[in-house]
Amino acid sequence: MKDLTINTAIDFELPPVFEGRHLIDGTWVESSDRFDRISPSHGTVVSTSARGGEAETNAAIAAARRAFDAGIWSRISGKARATILLKVADLIEANVERIALLETLESGKPIGQSRGEVGGAADLWRYAASLARTSHGDSHNTLGEDMLGVVLKEPIGVVSVITPWNFPFWILSQKLPFALAAGCTVVVKPSEMTPSSTVMMGELLLEAGLPAGVCNIVLGYGDPVGSLMSSHEDVHVVTFTGSTAVGKLITQAASGTLKKVALELGGKNPQVIFPDADLDDAADAVTFGVYFNVGQCCNSSSRIIVHEDIAEDFVARVVALSKLVKFGDPMDPDTQVGAIVTPEHNAKIDSYVQAAVAEGATLALGGGVMQVAGLGDQFYQPTIVTNVSPGMAIAQEEVFGPVLTVLTFRTLDEAIAITNDSDFGLSAGVWSEDVHTCLEFGRRAQAGTVWANTWMDGYPELAFGGVKQSGQGREIGSYGFDEFLEVKSLVMRVGRSRTPWVQAGT
Ligand code: NAD
Repeated sequence: MKDLTINTAIDFELPPVFEGRHLIDGTWVESSDRFDRISPSHGTVVSTSARGGEAETNAAIAAARRAFDAGIWSRISGKARATILLKVADLIEANVERIALLETLESGKPIGQSRGEVGGAADLWRYAASLARTSHGDSHNTLGEDMLGVVLKEPIGVVSVITPWNFPFWILSQKLPFALAAGCTVVVKPSEMTPSSTVMMGELLLEAGLPAGVCNIVLGYGDPVGSLMSSHEDVHVVTFTGSTAVGKLITQAASGTLKKVALELGGKNPQVIFPDADLDDAADAVTFGVYFNVGQCCNSSSRIIVHEDIAEDFVARVVALSKLVKFGDPMDPDTQVGAIVTPEHNAKIDSYVQAAVAEGATLALGGGVMQVAGLGDQFYQPTIVTNVSPGMAIAQEEVFGPVLTVLTFRTLDEAIAITNDSDFGLSAGVWSEDVHTCLEFGRRAQAGTVWANTWMDGYPELAFGGVKQSGQGREIGSYGFDEFLEVKSLVMRVGRSRTPWVQAGT
């Protein structure tokens, strides 16, 4: 693949192996067992973490429950909660380098991207702080002269936060500050592949003065830590980001106590390109959409649906741009696309591509594991697959790699039908200069987010989530905040006019 842009290994000094422990009731706790994380790019152990079991998980949930019931967080003012959240935001910004380095070494994502995600997360904390102060319910002053109704919003209780490996610090920050802003207490479990930036978050929370027990962190695996966090009777909400398969297990585990579950799951997100679109812009956004985070992104635009009149030209543009994208050493500040999370996942990506080729699809670019000089072969080539039919696995399932699938359409109705012919419904995009085309697509596409003439722009103010098997509930924005609140109606008689139910002497 001589025509790709590959950044080979740069010289840098690896930091000491990071040693992570659980944070339970304000104290760092060790376990008898530990697990290591080998860097996907550098092939060496970069962190070692205490491996939690049932005892640590039960202790963390008990601490969160005690803290909630004591009211040390749930019953203090929104102003007091906001003050701590704002301090955390400042501390995040002061610690970007340290956190981003480990995020890159554990996940394989480019260091420039890690810096952006860690630093950018501060804004989520600041936005959540604004919600802590402005949250309010309703009053009903129209129920009659002697009645007043007040609808209160209250923190729902103990929240389990379970996060994946692809955006560890960012996704934590899409959940944790919102739960804390609402007055909830929390138990967090990061992915076993990327635990360390969550431990560093724990350090910042203590430094900011968050009371002991309000946020607890348990390191370890889905079984038993995540599953106990999903079934435990003292947990009131589980907020989970990860695979659809695990999302279903969590729903089952939560059903025993009927706790609320908010799920952010997988996607098979299309970008639809009409002939009247700005094709330069669209080709660049498609290139970004498929390779960002090496395609290991719930919002990856892993399929494009392009009008057949422009399909050949458009694919040629994306192929040309793909060759310019800088793949390679995540520690090189110039790199745009890094390593694949595990060797097993790299093999899975390749098996989707090879199966499509065996079924008659064509490779317009790439299609194999990639060696990066000085770093090894846990990388995958930028890959574009054409002659794909909508029923193929590569067109339907989440590949989670740098692999673009090309489908074509003739009419708007057909484009919408292909868009909606999916078990998933996380996001979708439309490219056209015609506002009516964009609006009609936006209204008919089955997706939690629709982008028109852009891709993957997000704001703390705007709710994020999926329909169909991409999830349930919403994250961020006021809708995401509401997931952590319970609604209570307080009905008060304010006059002295109540007619007795029992009439004496009748
Ligand atoms: P995963 O489902 O394998 O793991 C996610 C988390 O769940 C990890 O912390 C894991 O330890 C834990 N877990 C595993 N089994 C569990 C169980 N039985 N009970 C409770 N917890 C359990 O997902 P992943 O491989 O880490 O992440 C990739 C997936 O995440 C992709 O499908 C991707 O689309 C999805 N994702 C979705 C969004 C979104 O916002 N919709 C964002 C990022 C990633």
